[in-house]
Amino acid sequence: MATLSPILKQATPVVVDHALGSWIHATDGKKYLDFTTGIGVTSTGHCHPDVVAAAREQVGKIVHAQYTTVLHRPLLELTGLLGEVLPEGLDSVFYATSGSEAVEASIRLARMATGRPNIISFQGGFHGRTVAAASLTTAGTRFRSGFSPLMSGVHVAPFPHWYRYGWDEATAVEFALKELDHLLLTVSTPDDTAGFIIEPVLGDGGYIPTPAAFLQGLRERADRHGIVLIIDEVQAGVGRTGKFWGHDWAGVRPDVVITAKGLASGFPISAIAAPADLMGKAWPGSQGGTYGGNAVAAAAAVATLGVIERENLVENALLRGAELRAGLDALQAEFTDIGNVRGRGLMQGVEFSAADKTPDPETALAVQQAAIKEELLLLTCGPHGNVIRLIPALNVSSDEIQAGLSKFTQALKSATS
Ligand code: PMP
Repeated sequence: MATLSPILKQATPVVVDHALGSWIHATDGKKYLDFTTGIGVTSTGHCHPDVVAAAREQVGKIVHAQYTTVLHRPLLELTGLLGEVLPEGLDSVFYATSGSEAVEASIRLARMATGRPNIISFQGGFHGRTVAAASLTTAGTRFRSGFSPLMSGVHVAPFPHWYRYGWDEATAVEFALKELDHLLLTVSTPDDTAGFIIEPVLGDGGYIPTPAAFLQGLRERADRHGIVLIIDEVQAGVGRTGKFWGHDWAGVRPDVVITAKGLASGFPISAIAAPADLMGKAWPGSQGGTYGGNAVAAAAAVATLGVIERENLVENALLRGAELRAGLDALQAEFTDIGNVRGRGLMQGVEFSAADKTPDPETALAVQQAAIKEELLLLTCGPHGNVIRLIPALNVSSDEIQAGLSKFTQALKSATS
């Protein structure tokens, strides 16, 4: 008899029977409130009827229309719709299947377009698990330890971790930009640097919003040195933060945007977008993939974008996110184990740490496990695993946010008493 590999680290023992909206119905008969959304993927909730209908209809037309062999209608429609939401000027789109593949595509593009070898990523960033994407990832040792050598030509610069340093945000940004300039002077000169890659909110690295001034500093340096600014919106994009793109909070123009996860409510599709002249610097055939831009996934993405617009889900993420945050802030005042609450929209993190900021992964894990008993699903993140992340569906209701907060409160009480 075969069993699942222990390589998979299981966050909960739940086995799903079916799911709808924000609720997962398990085979044990329990009904769980899902604040994990498949790691920020089921943006329109589980099995939104419009997404299900679009996928069903597409399955009956064509499932796999390999996109370098023949084009298909859902991909053309999706490209048209993305044109309405992508940052201005990023009008050329390449599709892949997973976030990691799209990250790799952006690195290939930056290297080919500039003719330069190096990529600079930022401390605590998560960009995926394929070997190249893992080489950019410093969100935790488990993503890279033991399987080196990783891709060469990657340098990791400091991120403005204001909370960890015990500084205010402006001081942390000034420090991180100075360190970046020093790296560009001494380690990877601009002539050797193809791209910067950064998340608008650190995801697996601890749910830390990237300060606007830091992204603006990167934009300014990218312009000055001809470096490609790649913004990894795989987790923070598609409405999650209460604006369509996470970088909209900083008012910064990226050269390349990477999107995946929430784009198709759970169907696997990812994309990178860039200005046509930048994309044109890579030669035709330099990127591709058997399953890229799958027809059913593309149809689900078209339906997802339709639902997000019709149901005002970006606004809902902002409003419900504010309700969630208010509840979490109140809990921080009550529970001393909570060191910090932060995030944007429906991407909120609760860091467990002592008064001197020593990370407390034991309590985070105990709360996450106690929440399962309350029938609330949560995930942890951060290099120490001491942050609980709350990532409800973009169409979560006020009542569901309140239900989640009261279950979370119960879990905190039982784990810390
Ligand atoms: N970038 C970011 C910001 C992510 O959050 C993730 C997934 N957690 C990835 C890239 C990798 O995506 P995938 O797991 O689909 O390869």
